Amino acid sequence: TPPLLDVQQLGKLYRVGGWLRPKHLRALHDASFTLGHREILALVGESGSGKSTIARLCVRLEAPTSGRILLDGRDVLHEERGRATLAYRRRVQMIFQDPFGSLNPARTIGQHLERPLLLHDKAKTRADLSTRVHALLDTVGLVPAPEVAAKYPQELSGGQRQRVAIARALAVEPDLILADEPVSMLDVSIRADVLNLMLDLKEKRGISFLYITHDLASARYVADRMMVMYAGHIVEAGPSDALLEKPLHPYTKLLLSAVPDLEGSFARGLPARSGAPALVDPPPGCPFAARCPDVTDVCRRETPRPISLDERRVVRCHLYPEPSRTRSE
Ligand code: ATP
Ligand code: MG
Repeated sequence: TPPLLDVQQLGKLYRVGGWLRPKHLRALHDASFTLGHREILALVGESGSGKSTIARLCVRLEAPTSGRILLDGRDVLHEERGRATLAYRRRVQMIFQDPFGSLNPARTIGQHLERPLLLHDKAKTRADLSTRVHALLDTVGLVPAPEVAAKYPQELSGGQRQRVAIARALAVEPDLILADEPVSMLDVSIRADVLNLMLDLKEKRGISFLYITHDLASARYVADRMMVMYAGHIVEAGPSDALLEKPLHPYTKLLLSAVPDLEGSFARGLPARSGAPALVDPPPGCPFAARCPDVTDVCRRETPRPISLDERRVVRCHLYPEPSRTRSE
């Protein structure tokens, strides 16, 4: 059976610099990965590396410049709009960093949850609707549900609001939730609660997550597999434990050396970057070449292609020869 999500050579260029001197910013370069059923995949990387761009493309808020997105083996970008889009939205939901930004202060929590239920025909009667709203609130641990349903967003804490956002995503019974830094604005003390809720939804409902974060410790805590991004490139991917224990890409190694204690607080972020990589008219070669301790000539000439080392680990670096090339030697 095909994976739930199969992203193939996705690219995204943004036009920047105005019409007089138009330039292209390459936010995403040739990104390929799969995400299985009942799997949590973490996407880590420093600010501006293209994490949210991947999420926006996968939830179809924006169209890619190149590449394909398959859901259960079906090419979703080339299906007709309208019906197909609604069906896709039902299966792939997104939650954002700031749950307050997406909640309307004039509506009750109950009204927020009724909307998607009605839009996607999930309730037949008024009584049915409120039963479902209460069940959703129960699922995300907002109890007593009838009381919470009558409240307004501003009466809830940040963590509670993020639970509402998760409940709203769950309303349409999605297969995949794209979670873009869902805990980074929450108090450290309640981050684990939201992460545990994600784990619970994976186990009990079989929901998959793309979990975007700066925070390696939380990524390790929830994710089956991890992907590391740098300057619009997915530079490495693999099972979380293997990737953290034996990083392959020099950038991943640098990242891990800067995070001394992976068991520690979820608050620890990625180090501030020194020397931002150029995304507008990038030089040829590997985007990490300028910072890489293992750089060689070929790195400044050729962009490395993703290499599969064993069945589950992928790295994009000239240190690792392409299997086909080694075989012919
Ligand atoms: P952060 O950790 O700060 O959220 P990110 O990894 O999510 O960063 P993206 O939001 O994906 O990064 O942005 C990748 C690059 O694309 C950045 O350089 C950003 O400035 C640029 N970018 C994103 N959206 C647009 C846009 N609409 N127009 C022009 N450039 C954009
Ligand atoms: Mg982002």
